[in-house]
Amino acid sequence: MIKEVVTSSTEIARAMGVTIKYFFTKPVTHQFPDEPVEVYPRFRGRHVLKRHENGLERCIGCALCAAACPTDCIYVEAAENTDDERYSPGERYAKVYTINMLRCIFCGYCAEACPTEAVVLEHDFALAEYDRWDAIYPKERLLEPHDASKVVVVRDDEVFVNVSRWGKK
Ligand code: SF4
Ligand code: SF4
Repeated sequence: MIKEVVTSSTEIARAMGVTIKYFFTKPVTHQFPDEPVEVYPRFRGRHVLKRHENGLERCIGCALCAAACPTDCIYVEAAENTDDERYSPGERYAKVYTINMLRCIFCGYCAEACPTEAVVLEHDFALAEYDRWDAIYPKERLLEPHDASKVVVVRDDEVFVNVSRWGKK
C-alpha cells in the first residue's frame, strides 16, 4: 500500500514536471493565416497548369495524368487546335480540364506522368471551401496565372540528408 502511494506520487510529480517545463517554453503554434507558413521545396500542394514562355498552354490534352491518377479525380476532354484558335503548340489542347480536390491525395503521379510538364503540384495548401462543389477546380482556376496563396513561403535552407547509398546530390 505505501509502496503504491509512493510510486503513484512519483509518477504524478514527474508528469507535472513535464507540464511545468513546457509551461515556460515558447509556444510553437503557427498563427495561420496571420503569419506565413514555411514549406519545403518538394512539398506537394495545389495543382497549377503551366504555360510556355510565349503564353501557350503546356497541356496537350493527352490525359496521361488522368490515366495515372489513382483516385480518378482528373477529367480531361481534348479538342483540336486550329490556326485561328490555338491554345497549345501541339495538335490538341485540353478543352476541359478538371480536378476534384476532395478526391486528390497529392501523390504527384499526375505530374510524373505528364509529358510536357504542364501539371505541377505547387506549394499552396490553403484549399478549404465553404461549398464542396467549389473544390472541383475547372481549367480556368488551374491555369497560370492563378490565385496563389500569399501565406505560404518556400524554405530555402539545406534539408538534404547525406546518406551514402542514395548517391551524390
Ligand atoms: S496528385 Fe495524385 S491523386 Fe491528386 S490528381 Fe494527381 S495523381 Fe490524382
Ligand atoms: S496535364 Fe499533361 S498529362 Fe495531363 S492532359 Fe495535359 S499534357 Fe497530358
